[in-house]
Amino acid sequence: MQQKVDINIPPSEKGQQRIIILGAGFGGLKLARLLGQSNQFQVLLIDRNNYHQFQPLLYQVATAGLEPSSISFPIRKIFQKKKNVFIRIAEIEAVETETKTVKTKIGRFKYDKLVIALGTTTNFFGNNKIEENSIGLKTVSEALYIRNQILKNYENALVSENEKVSEAALNIAIVGGGPTGVELAGAIAELRNNILPKEYPELDFSKMNIFLIEATNRLLGTMSQFSSQKAKNYLQKLGVKVQLNTLVKFCEGNKVITDSGVILSSNVVWAAGMKGTTLNGIPPKVVSPSGRIAVDAFNKVKGMDNIFAIGDIAFMETSQYPNGHPQVAPVAIQQAENLARNLMAEVAQKEQKSFTYKDKGTMATVGRNLAVVELPFAKFGGFFAWVIWMFVHLMSILGIKNRFFIFINWLTNYFTYNLSLRLIIKPKKQNVSPK
Ligand SMILES: Cc1cc2nc3c(=O)[nH]c(=O)nc-3n(C[C@H](O)[C@H](O)[C@H](O)COP(=O)(O)OP(=O)(O)OC[C@H]3O[C@@H](n4cnc5c(N)ncnc54)[C@H](O)[C@@H]3O)c2cc1C
Repeated sequence: MQQKVDINIPPSEKGQQRIIILGAGFGGLKLARLLGQSNQFQVLLIDRNNYHQFQPLLYQVATAGLEPSSISFPIRKIFQKKKNVFIRIAEIEAVETETKTVKTKIGRFKYDKLVIALGTTTNFFGNNKIEENSIGLKTVSEALYIRNQILKNYENALVSENEKVSEAALNIAIVGGGPTGVELAGAIAELRNNILPKEYPELDFSKMNIFLIEATNRLLGTMSQFSSQKAKNYLQKLGVKVQLNTLVKFCEGNKVITDSGVILSSNVVWAAGMKGTTLNGIPPKVVSPSGRIAVDAFNKVKGMDNIFAIGDIAFMETSQYPNGHPQVAPVAIQQAENLARNLMAEVAQKEQKSFTYKDKGTMATVGRNLAVVELPFAKFGGFFAWVIWMFVHLMSILGIKNRFFIFINWLTNYFTYNLSLRLIIKPKKQNVSPK
């Protein structure tokens, strides 16, 4: 049956362009907010979730440090007063360029201009055995799933009479030594060192191993050698077993099979790769092997009219970034800002500007009082870096209420080492796959 088009979206007003934005992540949301300020545009923002997720703090939800609601922000609330911004919650399926239409699970929508801001998904590199036996960390649901699974496995370890099963239930293997893997490993080590032994006195936590497995010869590969070494030292001090130059071949049952041996763990987190979200209708010739969509210096998809891509999914090759820009929030936000300016400039028949990334620095936290920070003029680690990391992340969170709750949580956690978020929340319906 042919789907209805534009159901319940009013026709755009005379002279207004309809811009459809796919994805309400860092890039899509910023663009919708900027274009929503101008009555020259009717904006339709489509996402599968009715909330924006602050991915940099997902690892704290996974380790029971923050409530999911603290890092999720309802999209509709942001646009309450914007009459020219419409929101639809739907799974996006394809773009049909001949009719300038987006196909979703709830119907089709027509655009004058389309902006793809669908970000990335976890890349299991086609290895089904890894995909079936591990979990990624890209969404709030996955973070909650990890929290549940780890806690459930401790309950299992308590009642198991089989030593190998208990050992696997206690161990945690994190694959991928980028910022996500490093931050998660550090937070789990803090839990093991400070909280879990108090809650499970019958379990011997000296037997719990946290493995961080990385295929290359260093952690934090996108940062300097200085930060890689510091992060490794910090993690080892916390008791994390860092295995460099180790390739995971596959996972089976409660085993992780690497090229240098077998690790016993029922908790495997896959933080070893990302790929651009697939959107049917985009010609394969403009999609890179890692699923990113090739764009020009104005974020226009190469060879396509009226279609743009921003953020993690966009692949813009420049002399400074021959492999594309880093897949971080500031790139997505800055590309949204530049595109908004250009779309407005086009309407006003003014000159458009190509995109230039202003890199203000990178950072990663490893644990309490431990972080590494790289600014354009300095690199450092330790307590001061950790304070900067906390400040920057707190100020980047959407919403004053969320900021306040996170601050209070962090403060309580710092002094008491003890947040009471270690709840196993079971979905009523089984087999609900995390998205
Ligand atoms: C665990 C983790 C930690 C990170 N830490 C940092 C950090 O400390 N600093 C930093 O700068 N960056 C960090 N990043 C990277 C940062 O989050 C991304 O660069 C940023 O989110 C990219 O923004 P985006 O708008 O391109 O995509 P996203 O923010 O990923 O947004 C994509 C949106 O598209 C929606 N979507 C996707 N597919 C569909 C579909 N088929 N149908 C409907 N909706 C869909 C999603 O629901 C999502 O809302 C981290 C990422 C992760 C996963």
